[in-house]
Amino acid sequence: AELDTLDILVLGVILLGTFAYLTKGTLWAKQKDPYANAAYLNGNAAKAGKTRNFVEKMEESGKNCIIFYGSQTGTAEDYASRLAKEGKSRFGLETMVADLEEYDFDAMDTLPSDKIAFFVMATYGEGEPTDNAVEFYEFINGDDVAFSQGGEDAPLDNFHYVAFGLGNNTYEHYNSMVRDVDRLLTKYGAHRIGNAGEGDDGAGTMEEDFLAWKEPMWAALAAHMGLEEREAVYEPVFGITVREGLTPQSPEVYLGEPNKMHLEGAQKGPFNAHNPYIAPIAESYELFKVKDRNCIHLEIDISGSTLSYTTGDHIAIWPTNAGDEVDRFLRITGLTDKREQVISVKALEPTAKVPFPTPTTYDAIVRYHLEIGAPVSRQFVSTLAAFAPNEEIKTEMTKLGSDKDYFHEKTGSQLLNIARLLEHVGNGETWDKIPFSAFIEGLTKLQPRYYSISSSSHVQPKKISVTAVVESSMVVGRQDPFRGVATNYLLALKQKQNGDPEPSPFGLTYELHGPRNKYDGIHVPVHVRHSNFKLPSDPAKPIIMIGPGTGVAPFRGFIQERAQQAREGINVGRTILFFGCRKSTEDFMYESEFEEYKKALGDKFELVTAFSRESSKKVYVQHRLKERSAEISDLLSQKAFFYVCGDAANMAREVNTVLAQIIAEGRGVSESKAEEIVKNMRAANQYQEDVW
Ligand code: FAD
Repeated sequence: AELDTLDILVLGVILLGTFAYLTKGTLWAKQKDPYANAAYLNGNAAKAGKTRNFVEKMEESGKNCIIFYGSQTGTAEDYASRLAKEGKSRFGLETMVADLEEYDFDAMDTLPSDKIAFFVMATYGEGEPTDNAVEFYEFINGDDVAFSQGGEDAPLDNFHYVAFGLGNNTYEHYNSMVRDVDRLLTKYGAHRIGNAGEGDDGAGTMEEDFLAWKEPMWAALAAHMGLEEREAVYEPVFGITVREGLTPQSPEVYLGEPNKMHLEGAQKGPFNAHNPYIAPIAESYELFKVKDRNCIHLEIDISGSTLSYTTGDHIAIWPTNAGDEVDRFLRITGLTDKREQVISVKALEPTAKVPFPTPTTYDAIVRYHLEIGAPVSRQFVSTLAAFAPNEEIKTEMTKLGSDKDYFHEKTGSQLLNIARLLEHVGNGETWDKIPFSAFIEGLTKLQPRYYSISSSSHVQPKKISVTAVVESSMVVGRQDPFRGVATNYLLALKQKQNGDPEPSPFGLTYELHGPRNKYDGIHVPVHVRHSNFKLPSDPAKPIIMIGPGTGVAPFRGFIQERAQQAREGINVGRTILFFGCRKSTEDFMYESEFEEYKKALGDKFELVTAFSRESSKKVYVQHRLKERSAEISDLLSQKAFFYVCGDAANMAREVNTVLAQIIAEGRGVSESKAEEIVKNMRAANQYQEDVW
């Protein structure tokens, strides 16, 4: 029989492995790993020799469909992969997924009319593009856009596209990114196929909005391109190869290290979303006085790194999945016995990217790289039906995947994660027929979580404070509560550092020492993200801050900074903080610290509190704000800066409304005029939000 290339490679690896074993690995270490994925070699996508012209790239790789994503938290990227997969399996499209950041767009006008481009665009914060979409957006939204073939009236007349946006209706600029891109492409003569879809995270309907949009879109695209639908058969995007010659102890095996530098034990900047700094936690403690809720304060030491921050920036924490969820996942997928097996993962087609470095182990992939805790999507349930342990379960999975109401009735309201869903539907049977590739494709990669830095860079430039409330919520129909991934990990770190009597929260066994004990001595992987949420450059300007709950985080930094400036004899303007929580005796965080700041700032500083559970009527920060109408109106006329931080869904919106009322009354103008004034304040950065 003929050996195919994969066989030869595998054989080669076995031979090399044996050789390495015999030479005690001394030569092996210098061999170039034929399976290593280039993207992780330097902590960044390998750029060398790669074209930034996507039309060329499509040509080279024989693609007729490119799916661009602008993604911040991974959802848009995930949707892009799903569309690529579906386009291929249902319609035979030759699809590729593309990070907007990796291409230039001046050659857009050369895309032949028989090809198609998708844009899956998340809107971030105040209607901004996601980090990876900034360049594309600046290009297409620029005043003098120049396409490669010059400027007729409709330079993009050949360009056909599909668009979907991910937004949140609680923000003012709802889905502005997809709306803008759609408008601009149309302006240059491009033709949209199907509707520009909009998913709403605010209403919690993102997934269903996406599913509802894509069916008519596929129909329109099939009609436009003359595609014929075929029965979708699952084709893996990634090939898994067992690396017989390697063990978890082999030095080239990734056990959760994010890239090659980390594997080799060298931490080198720049530290960013591809390359975290493993930072020591200098100190950690509990901020709440109650037993059943936790809020963690951390001091993260960045002195050993090139990281820097300014007051108001965000820090990203790279979490590790909880041990019991990792175990559950491996158990239900039949991988428990293979958890330490070394495997390489290779993209079976040139434009797909393996989302983590290999060779690695199943354990490391599940623990460090896949978002196994998130609620499972209905579409993924549909994909997995084919691999059910028996016909009965397969029928049930197919029904769940295709019937929205049934899905929500049976599982949706419990927000089951993947392993819990498989347990639930399969009555505990093992799902060992699912190709592992399906999980890599179907689950988002584990995302860093962002936190508003709660310290001042003026006061402590090399130590970053974090204020994180631990997510734990009861879910209807479930015995145990849902526990947030990152915050319970932080809680476990805090408990270990302080030698708390119950070191693992709620029985969740985290691997706190990290891959090869690299996080031991209490470390956490982080990077910093710069923000536009900033104090006025003139410290004499008054500021009004609205920060209930953990929304107080950046304001602790602001006040720490102003208190220090006051001690240095600098003239500091009026500084008012509206803080709210349940009870003064339970979750009033930083109470004694604020007293210290008061000593330094005197009358310049005022803390206005709203305790929602101390009287029969619930009092929130917006009520307190209203009570101070006259003073607020007066401060605003002195050009006070107005800041809101915390809950985007309700609080920020109500504060906005109250502020408009205050302005309307104070200046004797109509409410609609007042709303316009608030809009202008936002545009001028006099009103700044840091909400999530
Ligand atoms: P996750 O696991 O991410 O879950 C988050 C939420 O999703 C849960 O509360 C739950 O409602 C829902 N959920 C997810 N999966 C399931 C499931 N399977 N079942 C049921 N429900 C589910 N937070 C702070 O505490 N302090 C800050 O200063 C702060 N600043 C931020 C600044 C920015 C710019 C942003 C974007 C966010 C900020 N956050 C802050 C929020 C923070 O990033 C995290 O989202 C938060 O800590 C929860 O993370 P987690 O991993 O613990 O929860």
